Amino acid sequence: MRNIKVDGDRLWASLMEMAKIGATEKGGVCRLALTDVDKAARDLFVRWCEEAGCSVSIDRMGNIFARRAGRDDTLPPVMTGSHIDSQPTGGKFDGIYGVLAGLEVIRTLNDLGYETDAPIEVSAWTNEEGSRFAPAMIASGVFGGAFTLEEGLASADVDGKTIGEELERIGYAGEMECGGRAVGAFLEAHIEQGPILEAEEKTIGIVQGVQGISWFDVTVTGMESHAGTTPMERRRDAMVGAAKLVAEIDRLAHENGPDARSTVGVMRVSPNSRNVIPGSVYFSADLRHPDAEVLAAMTAEAGLHAEAIARDGGLEIEFQEIWHSPPVKFAESCVGAVQGAAEALGYASRPITSGAGHDAVYVSRVAPTGMIFIPCEDGISHNEIEAATQADVAAGCDVLLNAMVALATQDEGEQPDS
Ligand SMILES: [Zn+2]
Repeated sequence: MRNIKVDGDRLWASLMEMAKIGATEKGGVCRLALTDVDKAARDLFVRWCEEAGCSVSIDRMGNIFARRAGRDDTLPPVMTGSHIDSQPTGGKFDGIYGVLAGLEVIRTLNDLGYETDAPIEVSAWTNEEGSRFAPAMIASGVFGGAFTLEEGLASADVDGKTIGEELERIGYAGEMECGGRAVGAFLEAHIEQGPILEAEEKTIGIVQGVQGISWFDVTVTGMESHAGTTPMERRRDAMVGAAKLVAEIDRLAHENGPDARSTVGVMRVSPNSRNVIPGSVYFSADLRHPDAEVLAAMTAEAGLHAEAIARDGGLEIEFQEIWHSPPVKFAESCVGAVQGAAEALGYASRPITSGAGHDAVYVSRVAPTGMIFIPCEDGISHNEIEAATQADVAAGCDVLLNAMVALATQDEGEQPDS
């Protein structure tokens, strides 16, 4: 593979220009999906893509696809992209980095006169953040078949305005079918949104997949009685049972390696009175792991602890899974292309698992998929102070460029020297 490089200054300038749209006083961005601000950012992106010679199409969920033809334009495209929308107090890089990195790949290929066999496409997915319309990643979800088009268009904000209505209003209700076409490969470049790359001084995270998530509702039932008159051995204290189970759930993640996570974030005690032994405690549990088998084993073990604690304490414990998002393992072809590009370019890299959801999760249902992470300052994201360095931004885009060229080109043939 040739080590071709993007124009890091041009990419940075585009990011900073785009960050003016929806800019906040604290240096971040507020660009909620399908608002006038989102429309302005979409319009700018589309104009830049057209100026780069791309043909632009919009699908029925308002997803934007900018296409640079391949030598064999009948081949399925090699695609990259992310999202333009942000959180209400979002940063200048989350999402938009992956979109503008894709544009920079096309601008660089144009500069070099480089022809890929397969066409290259840059996508911008509608409403990734889930801040205005639930759920998150709804439009890449329709593309990947996780939701129907009707579900996607009907999702409403707090004022009752639907995605379908708002797409019409801002002029992004496209005609193209959402999904249902072949994609040769999909790569998404994104800031890590976590602290690992920065802490280990790595420039590139070669994303292996996205961790699986299981959510549980846990209800511990004992018996309410007087805090002063009930001897300790006669108590059926729901809080003590809950506390023991929370400790076991925490221990589970510590014992299942560095990729395991467990969190209890909600607890409700009844009757919630200082001098009454709690009769009932509800709490939430969130278990995560990138390996489906380990996540299932963690779930089973938590259930066994619940049974044992219930038995010992004379309690009833309901331990119920209410939502499950299976782990995603990205395609070897895409992970390999990212790794090959990072190595050829000499950038320090490490394999990494995504702790957050991304559009790539849903696209991976219908196309071989991979992701590239770059460090972000102090691991902070979904915050106006979110920051990344120009060098890292450029390096991630260099990796994207070379990985896409590798995926889109069978035989390099005659190419201009770079
Ligand atoms: Zn994002």
